[in-house]
Amino acid sequence: MAISQAAVDVCTNSGVNVNKRQTTNSEIKEIPLLGTDCAIKSQVPLSAYTSYRVGGPAEWYVAPRNIEAMHASLIYAKEEGLPVTVLGAGSNLLVSDRGIPGLVIATRHLRQTHFDPETGLLTVAAGEPIPGLAMAAAERGWQGLEWAVGIPGTVGGAVVMNAGAHNSCIADILVSAQVLSPDGTIETLTSEQLGYSYRTSILQGSDRIVTQATFRMQPGADPALVIATTKQHKQHRLTTQPYDKPSCGSVFRNPKPYAAGWLIEQTGLKGFQIGNAQVAQRHANFIVNCGGASAWDIFNLIRHVQYQVQDRWSILLEPEVKMLGEFPAAC
Ligand SMILES: Cc1cc2nc3c(=O)[nH]c(=O)nc-3n(C[C@H](O)[C@H](O)[C@H](O)COP(=O)(O)OP(=O)(O)OC[C@H]3O[C@@H](n4cnc5c(N)ncnc54)[C@H](O)[C@@H]3O)c2cc1C
Repeated sequence: MAISQAAVDVCTNSGVNVNKRQTTNSEIKEIPLLGTDCAIKSQVPLSAYTSYRVGGPAEWYVAPRNIEAMHASLIYAKEEGLPVTVLGAGSNLLVSDRGIPGLVIATRHLRQTHFDPETGLLTVAAGEPIPGLAMAAAERGWQGLEWAVGIPGTVGGAVVMNAGAHNSCIADILVSAQVLSPDGTIETLTSEQLGYSYRTSILQGSDRIVTQATFRMQPGADPALVIATTKQHKQHRLTTQPYDKPSCGSVFRNPKPYAAGWLIEQTGLKGFQIGNAQVAQRHANFIVNCGGASAWDIFNLIRHVQYQVQDRWSILLEPEVKMLGEFPAAC
């Protein structure tokens, strides 16, 4: 196997910072977040909150229900010297088996949706799941999100990733995003200010948290037609991609003009497996968890695919998936 097993040399991917509140498995704690109805919990398994169903625990975890609690969480992290990681639906993440140090702030409880028929604007809280939003828009006869129904992320994650499918992406419809900075400042950034390009925005790697987004939609269509188009997109995904097994969707960005999946398939890697992680038979840019895979199985398979494709095509595939926590150093 042309893959480095040099796991001795370990690097960190998320700004690890050992701190005074570091916990061990034996000491599970729950700390009320003062002035809020939230508690910060220790050692929360993240495999339950990622689409890969792998990953160790968050050292500390909180799921605020409003912006005030979100800000209180950031203040807590600052006071305790904890690095912060934001978690949406965890559908574009590979979390290390060793977990994530610091405070993981989940947006899953930030839920609110407002359709304004006067303006055609749809304003949504960051934790709203995209598939449900696409269907809710379709049921009102609002066009604009049909393409997004198969993306199992949150609004916040989609805004940060500039999620896209079927030749459309978030940048096409985003009017603005509300972001919260660690100092408590709330800003409204336009699509232009977010510096969008293919699956990127300036928010990736930033310390700002998306709390809400506003999309420009086209109301007034026949709901039956919008629902039909939305369902067609969903059906197309179900038949062309392996939705039956845990994954993160496309693992690699497409190195234009090539499709990553085509390069991987042409390299003969479809079905290649390390541990219980496998290059999907149905779509070679998916690596699926066949059941019981570890994050390291998936990580090793990602590296193996990169080496093999580079060897054959002299193209280094760049991961789209965000890797969080400790993984073996690249070599
Ligand atoms: C089966 C499957 C199919 C998929 N298909 C597609 C597809 O067609 N197109 C596509 O683009 N993607 C696809 N994905 C990948 C994924 O769904 C998208 O990237 C999605 O936008 C990630 O959203 P999330 O809420 O899960 O973010 P997460 O995975 O939780 O986080 C992704 C990144 O965004 C950051 N983040 C999340 N929320 C916030 C926030 N509120 N504020 C600041 N930072 C935040 C995280 O820290 C992390 O860096 C697919 C995934 C799966 C599992």
